[in-house]
Formats: sequence, structure tokens, C-alpha cells
Amino acid sequence: MFDERLRSHHDAEHTLDTLLGRPKGHLNRVFNMKPWTAVTKKLSLPPPPPEKSGNTDRGIYIHVPHCDKLCSFCGLNRKERKNTDLDAYAGYIAEEIKAFGAFPYIREAPFNSVYFGGGTPTVFTVGQFALVFDALRRHIPLADDCEITVESTQHNLDAEKARTLAEFGVNRFSIGIQTFSDRGRKILGRTYGGEKAYDELLSLRAALDGTLCIDIIYSYPDQSIEEIEQDAEICVSSGIDSVSFYSLMVNKGSALARSIEAGETRFVRDIESDRERHNIFYNRLTAAGFTLLELSKLVRPGRDAYKYIQIQYGNGDLVPVGSGAGGRLAGFGIYSMSPGRRFVSPLGAEYAIYYRMLGELQFGLYDPARLARFLGPAAEQAIVEKARELSGPGFLVQDGSGWRLTPDGVFWGNNIAVEVLKAAIGAKKGKKTHA
Ligand code: SF4
Repeated sequence: MFDERLRSHHDAEHTLDTLLGRPKGHLNRVFNMKPWTAVTKKLSLPPPPPEKSGNTDRGIYIHVPHCDKLCSFCGLNRKERKNTDLDAYAGYIAEEIKAFGAFPYIREAPFNSVYFGGGTPTVFTVGQFALVFDALRRHIPLADDCEITVESTQHNLDAEKARTLAEFGVNRFSIGIQTFSDRGRKILGRTYGGEKAYDELLSLRAALDGTLCIDIIYSYPDQSIEEIEQDAEICVSSGIDSVSFYSLMVNKGSALARSIEAGETRFVRDIESDRERHNIFYNRLTAAGFTLLELSKLVRPGRDAYKYIQIQYGNGDLVPVGSGAGGRLAGFGIYSMSPGRRFVSPLGAEYAIYYRMLGELQFGLYDPARLARFLGPAAEQAIVEKARELSGPGFLVQDGSGWRLTPDGVFWGNNIAVEVLKAAIGAKKGKKTHA
């Protein structure tokens, strides 16, 4: 039914940009730029009451772009740490937090999530983390049940450091593992062999009461069925709370892309082999009691609320802190380049509606009335018709007044989200659309 799989939320977002006739990638990037003072003017006022903003939860995203070494596949906003002065970088983060905390918009309502992403935030020493946490506690009103996440690789987070971070308030650890296969780890450029990665994971699990999540990549070059089955078994047996699972994306310019282009690494992937690996992993974990939180996230019920992504997909405020941090604040999209350099663009009403719909479609539940609440009855009817059409090939099954994605539906989830949005937008604008 679909020619090409949209592998991520970003792919779907770019397709939505095209659909709306906008420059590709404008939603989170630079579009109709405004001066930073346009934001600070809004931040000088108290935040709107939740019933007006439509969203109660808000978060802070702290970006640490440094990594000890770069993985072959990675296309994230990161750079090799080399001789970076991390004391200075932690100091800059602390100053940014203090500066944001001076505004009434920030000070006068609680924050529900703090997310340290990267790069690898755990390149910071305990002392550097202490400086940042001191700034957070002094200047930001954190909710009592604030979710505080730190992303990490394994080699710079041992059990002792993890326990210290937990004492600082970190209650959610997200560990990039990608695979436990020795062969796969070598292709992906990961530190450690599979056995050591497994032992380190068990040691972290024993040390931590908080939420422990890992990342897994499937469909890497020549991944065997045994390799994906082994990764699934370890996710089930190791006591982790959730797993983000992604089909490998070969990012342009990455070491892996160069190796494939040079013929040093063989990479042949068709949709069927990708789908098979996705469904083996998905079905094994759901059989063990994991449930779908969003298209690329399976969780043990009650063990991972993942508030950060709920805020992200729900269009809530996300304060961007650090070089390379993107966020959304008081109706503006913001991208921080370096100290004092930020790109700012107003989000606009259309963005708010469609981006939020796309965000809701990431959770795998299709409730037409809820989805179309901003667009009216014509859009609701169009979503119902599209959901019925998509249940034909087995992507959706009826669930109460709505529909739920099947395993194949999860695999094609971003394509399906775009089709449903196209139908809703077409109905709103009085046009008929076709898949
Ligand atoms: S995958 Fe993680 S550790 Fe590897 S280069 Fe990317 S951000 Fe750094």
C-alpha cells in the first residue's frame, strides 16, 4: 500500500511540511525568524492558565552535544569531545538555566520533566552535574514528581555514578545499547562487546530503582533473525522498564554511509525483511507484557510514563538549554546555536493544530472525535472513513469508539499518521484526498 516507509516522526513531519506547502523541516527549524526579544517579551508575563494553553505539563531540554567517540551510524547533533572544556560547558548550562529562571513565565508554574539529551550527557563528571542540578533547584520550580532523564552510553555510566545521579534526582536513565550482537556492535561502532554490554546493563539494573530504558536498533547490515531474537530476549529478561526500537537509519555523511558507499559494508534491506525484524521484536515484547507507548517505544505498564515525549508530542513548552538544543516556548520554536545565538520563529495556529495531531498519532490510538476536535465534523468523518479503509489491509483494529494499530500498523505508523492527517486536512479545506 505504501511505496516507502517513513521510519520516524521526523520523516512524517517533513511530509506534513510538504503537504502544507512549507519549506521542508520548518516546524522545528528556522522559518519567519524573529528577534529573541519577541520571546523575552512573552516570558516577562506569567504563563497562561492551563485551560487557556490547553496543556499543563512543561519541560526543560538540556543538550550536551559531546561524545567520547562517534558511532558509525549516528546522525544526531553531536561532536567528538576531544579537548572540550566541559567545566566551561556545564557553567554555560547553569547560567542559561539561571537566565531562564529569572522570567515570570518560567518561575510561576511547575516543570514536570527535565531531559538531558545529546550527544552523551554523562561525559559530565559528577561535579559538573552537581553544578547544573544546583542551578535547576535554585532557579526552576520543579514539580515534586518531576521526571528527570539522563541519556547515556554504557562506558561512561557505571553503577556508582548512576547512584550518585539518582541522589541528585535523576529518576529515569536512557541507555544507548543498540544491540547485544558482537557483530552488530562492531558495525555500529559501539564500545564494548555484547557480553560486556549485557553485564553492565544488569549491574545498572541492580543499582537503580528508577526507570531504566534502553535503545535498540534493528535491520542493521545483514542482521540475522537470531540476532534480533536475542536482543528481544534480553530486553524481556534483563529487568529493563522500556525500550525504544528503531530501524537503522543510515545518515548521509556518517561513517557507516561512507563505508556502504565504498562497498566495504554490504547493506541490502527490503521492506519485508525490515517488517519481519520489527514484528519479531514487537511481538516478543508484547507477549511478555510490554505495551506500546508510542510508535518506537514499548514499556512495562506503570514503569515509564515518558513525560518528556508526552510534552513534546502534546505541543507543551520545552525550554531549550545548551548548544544545539531545540525547543518550544510561549508560542515560538527556538533553536539555540551557541551562547547568545538563538533562532526564533513563531509557531502559528496551523502548526499548533497539525503538529499536535501528528503528535497524538504517535501513540497508536485513533480516536476520531479527539483527533478532529480542532478541525470540526467534516474532518472527524474523514478520519473515520480513512481508519475504516486502513483496517482493510490489517493496519488498524476497532477498539471502542476508535481504532488501535496492529503490529503491522505500528511498523507503518508514520505513513498511516500522514494518510489520516491528509484526509483530515483535505476535509477541513473541502478537498478529497487519496492514499
Ligand atoms: S549514538 Fe550516542 S554515543 Fe554514539 S555518536 Fe551518537 S550521540 Fe554519540
